[in-house]
Amino acid sequence: MKISEIHIYRHDLPVKNGPYTMANAEVWSLTTTLVKLVADNGLVGWGETCPVGPTYAESHVAGASAALAEMAPGMIGADILPVPLHRRMDSLLNGHSYAKAAFDIAAHDLLGKKLGVSVSDLLGGALTDRVPSYYATGVGSPDEIARIATEKCQEGYPRLQVKVGGRPVEIDIEVIRMVWEVIRGSGMRLAVDGNRGWTTRDALRVSRECPEIPFIMEQPCNTIEDLQKIRPQVNHAIYMDENGTSLNTAITAAGTGLVDGFGMKVTRIGGLHPMRAFRDICAARNLPHTCDDAWGGDIIAAACTHIGATVAPHLLEGVWLAAPYIERHFDPENGIRIDGGHIRRPQGPGLGISPDESLFGIPVASF
Ligand SMILES: [Mg+2]
Repeated sequence: MKISEIHIYRHDLPVKNGPYTMANAEVWSLTTTLVKLVADNGLVGWGETCPVGPTYAESHVAGASAALAEMAPGMIGADILPVPLHRRMDSLLNGHSYAKAAFDIAAHDLLGKKLGVSVSDLLGGALTDRVPSYYATGVGSPDEIARIATEKCQEGYPRLQVKVGGRPVEIDIEVIRMVWEVIRGSGMRLAVDGNRGWTTRDALRVSRECPEIPFIMEQPCNTIEDLQKIRPQVNHAIYMDENGTSLNTAITAAGTGLVDGFGMKVTRIGGLHPMRAFRDICAARNLPHTCDDAWGGDIIAAACTHIGATVAPHLLEGVWLAAPYIERHFDPENGIRIDGGHIRRPQGPGLGISPDESLFGIPVASF
């Protein structure tokens, strides 16, 4: 099956009760980029990529469209099977994994539809139809974050991620202590995500002052060198997120014992095909990880849920979706929703969702 048409769309996703706040970004609305692939047999597949603004990672919305448009003429006639597809993309553009992920996801959707199987089956097979999620708070006051922790614990979320950084570290320590008071004994796991926002000084201080609280520290500081520096000195497990920009980086981090796990995003690593390899590398080293999107709607949410369903349950830290922060679904009927802290794996062939194309307007580019 070969690609015969490519259509690229942009669509705005306003943040519900915005803004969403991280150590280095505050976002009110995000523009997602959608790809529709039409195959030579008439089947249609959808892909999506949505950076969380221009400062979260080395990616931005205009870059996604530009990279897709750069590759698109050379992708007409390309095979949709993942190995030749990635070889073709890499022959047309160096890097830009977050844009390539949109083609990768759409190709998996197409392949699943052609074979009559779900994307999780293509990725090796689902181990569950009820995939655990986790809730991420923004950066907020100790009282506010403790209130959210209580609410999300009661809703059934198995894990909470608290955002920190970008302010005096004493407030972050207060947040961690208050949240732990609320959730201790509940079984809810706790991650503290600095989104690169702490200095190594701050990270060392937090670990020293909260030795009895069993949280994992996600991407506390900016660089891999920072993680290497604090690694022998902290009491807490360290997960890599933003620094895990490729399979190559993840292999080094896993193989050298730099980290105890990962926050991983399907778009950052380049799509479901490299994500599958990442999943297997983590399994070989017994390292837990998430299967997240950066942001985005039902298409990327479905992709993350399908790969998440194939991860060994004891290593899956959850699938994070932007769904709770967004008003509408692309697929009003089968849109991806979180219920009781878990996500129902979409049924049906491919991604298992059918976006209402009329929401997206006219394509910004067609090939
Ligand atoms: Mg993170």
